[in-house]
Amino acid sequence: MTNGKVYLVGAGPGDPGLLTLRGRECLTKADEVVYDGLVNPLLLRLTKAHAIRTCRVEGPDGRRLDQAQINAMLIALAREGKQVVRLKGGDPYIFGRGSEEAEALLEAGIPFEVVPGVTAATAVTSSAGISLTHRDDASAVAYITGHEDPTKTKSTIDYEVLARFPGTLVFYMGLHRLASISQSLIAAGMPSSTPAAVISRGSTSRQRTIVAPLSELSERVIAEKVRPPSLIVIGDCVSRHDRLAWFEAKPLLGKRIGITRPDAQADPQIARAIELGAEPVLMPTISIEPVEDWSEVDETLSRLSEYDWLVFTSVNGVRALLGRLWELGQDVRALSHLKLACIGPSTAAVLAEYHLRADIVPDEYRAEALVEALKHDIVGKRVLLARASRGRDVIPSELNAAGADVRELVVYRNEDVESLPAAAMAAIEAGEVDWIGLSSPSIARQLASLLSGDVQSMLGTKTRLVAISPVTQQAAEEAGLPVNVTAAQYTWDGIFDAILQAESD
Ligand code: SAH
Repeated sequence: MTNGKVYLVGAGPGDPGLLTLRGRECLTKADEVVYDGLVNPLLLRLTKAHAIRTCRVEGPDGRRLDQAQINAMLIALAREGKQVVRLKGGDPYIFGRGSEEAEALLEAGIPFEVVPGVTAATAVTSSAGISLTHRDDASAVAYITGHEDPTKTKSTIDYEVLARFPGTLVFYMGLHRLASISQSLIAAGMPSSTPAAVISRGSTSRQRTIVAPLSELSERVIAEKVRPPSLIVIGDCVSRHDRLAWFEAKPLLGKRIGITRPDAQADPQIARAIELGAEPVLMPTISIEPVEDWSEVDETLSRLSEYDWLVFTSVNGVRALLGRLWELGQDVRALSHLKLACIGPSTAAVLAEYHLRADIVPDEYRAEALVEALKHDIVGKRVLLARASRGRDVIPSELNAAGADVRELVVYRNEDVESLPAAAMAAIEAGEVDWIGLSSPSIARQLASLLSGDVQSMLGTKTRLVAISPVTQQAAEEAGLPVNVTAAQYTWDGIFDAILQAESD
């Protein structure tokens, strides 16, 4: 068998948006992804590959891999002919041991490519409002490891040289040795008043920046219980932090928002949460699955000429029906005689991806509004309604009542999940989720059934609930979930607006 290839890809420092385009390409075509503990797991949404997490220190799952084992794993996977992405936090070659992996691959005769990443020093400082080489402050920048190989007998860090360095010092992996680093620099002649900062979990919702004169930084960091991964930055450029800290001004910084949508549809909400500074916590309560038997759909698609209207009540309905049409060897021309209606703008937007324009999109995202909009052109018309295996029956019954001849066609399944992801459950139980968005009555009911009474009694205070509409609010309350706020606009953007409003009150 011919060998596969290993891509050593930099994942960036935390914000998943900081992956490079080349990195994304590699993830898209990978068969296996081997990722390290600093990588934001949201990046795994970009790949269908099997993913393995490596931890050099013992991870929460109790597993620990040393570098030789990781090298051996990469080589073994490539020898199976696989395209392997080795995804590493920041840049693979900046304190990332990427070059050791490359050497092992070279020796084993495995082809490899290195895809650089945004290293913590550049990303994390800019989001903390620090320009490492501001022209007035620094003419050089040094990246230094604060955690030397423990087997080395003598420090290779020359503090005398660093104390005289004409620029900014950036220490990686130095948080636990901050006191000794500061003392060594001051002893070597660096002024104790030199501006210094520790930036923790930079470019993520949990970013924190502690700024203090060098001699006081260590005490402050201990007092404020700052956690790794953290970067230490020392130099005059730190003093501009306050004015330029654009990232820390995000309105929902530090907030965690539970996204209850089906996993495959959560991308826009993940992006919005991150943009607002929040951390999305994925907790899908429902999964979208293909129908088990396509025969009814196929048969209907072969007789589309019998219909006047095609009505979509969800994005999934559009994708399922048009996807099946394509698989059957046909395309959108099969719909050319049909009028198209959608329940709301998101559904219409997906239709537009197929270059189809909806004839009717009601202003308000509600079944009743769709029926109202259709009523005028429906008497005696044959209507095909693409729907989920479950849902409200308002549309077909109202349209029939208005004189239409409605045929309901199940094009996808809407299944309850059996449990929430373990990480989401743990976060809710620890009271660490600030908001949960409920975007439909069935999602609200399903969430209630997945949470035990104990957990439910914690909701409403630490974890607040926001309903997408009054109908969802009512369903949630009937299921025992206390709703704190209800969106004014019945979309996920409306949910975010309601959270922003509540947080600013
Ligand atoms: N290859 C990585 C660095 C790996 S060493 C890169 O290029 O960024 C791990 C160290 O990186 C941590 O100890 C910390 O000093 C720094 N680091 C990584 N991500 C960070 C983040 N989001 N915020 C602050 N420091 C970070």
